[in-house]
Amino acid sequence: KSIKIANPMRTQAILNQYGLRAKKKFGQNFLTDHNILSGIVGAANVTDQDAVVEIGPGIGGLTEYLAQAADQVLAFEIDRDMVRVLSETLAPYDNVTVENQDVLNVDLQDNLAGHFGLDRHVKVVANLPYYITTPILLALLQAGIAWDQIVVMMQKEVADRLSAKPGTKEYGVLSIILSYYANVETALKVPRTAFNPAPNVDSAVVSLTPRTPDQPVDRPDQLFALIKATFAHRRKSLWNNLLQRFGKEDETKERLRSALDQSQIDPGVRAERLTLNRLTDLYLALMEQGFYQL
Ligand code: SAM
Repeated sequence: KSIKIANPMRTQAILNQYGLRAKKKFGQNFLTDHNILSGIVGAANVTDQDAVVEIGPGIGGLTEYLAQAADQVLAFEIDRDMVRVLSETLAPYDNVTVENQDVLNVDLQDNLAGHFGLDRHVKVVANLPYYITTPILLALLQAGIAWDQIVVMMQKEVADRLSAKPGTKEYGVLSIILSYYANVETALKVPRTAFNPAPNVDSAVVSLTPRTPDQPVDRPDQLFALIKATFAHRRKSLWNNLLQRFGKEDETKERLRSALDQSQIDPGVRAERLTLNRLTDLYLALMEQGFYQL
């Protein structure tokens, strides 16, 4: 199979041909390194059985690798100029569809069902626009789509936060929400030289596989809002963050104390020490005390 889009010379030539330059506001850094591109597709174990969703195809460098390996590819690209380029660069591939959309404004569940058929499992493979890595990840995980694997490039610092363990400085709301939905592994570290233009941060490819939480809850949104509140002031105790969130009335304090007692959590602890399971215990106890309703 021959690769016609991404390499250090051709990527630049394609941009020149269309009179385009990489746009910072869309987080455009194009991959030009064959080893990384095939490494990403390999990390996702893409086969000809797979329906693949790509976010931000750009000029189509990664898309071409995906088109050659997968059954079908659906790609969302916000930048009209790129969509114009893609209509030519991807013309040889009849298994690729590009939608000119902001992925954050797409109803993914509807769109994927419409495109691939109801209940078809997908893999998500992307070199993400770094300025919206977190919102995209959260949207993917919370959209309720059936996914087998998510393999995404991001800045290394964010990758470190995704897989951070309690008690470390990288551990936070994002690590905990991720651990509700997924197992996280770093598949590849990627040097700046693999891109045109080179980003000014190091990158990593992260592989997520679906995970069923030990204690699934009916309203994950409420659980996550609680977790955010417990991290509102990272250096403060859990107790202080809870008072800040729920108020300082005597009666409130009483119910908060009962919930902490019941979940056997020390009010003086900092949230950064607590695992998803402990925070879920706290959430369920707070629900029993009437702080949350289904
Ligand atoms: N996939 C290409 C590659 O690896 O060479 C380009 C990756 S580049 C880091 C990110 C891409 O995401 C750009 O093409 C950019 O235009 C696109 N993008 C940025 N924001 C987007 C959004 N909200 N929705 C869809 N695509 C977006």
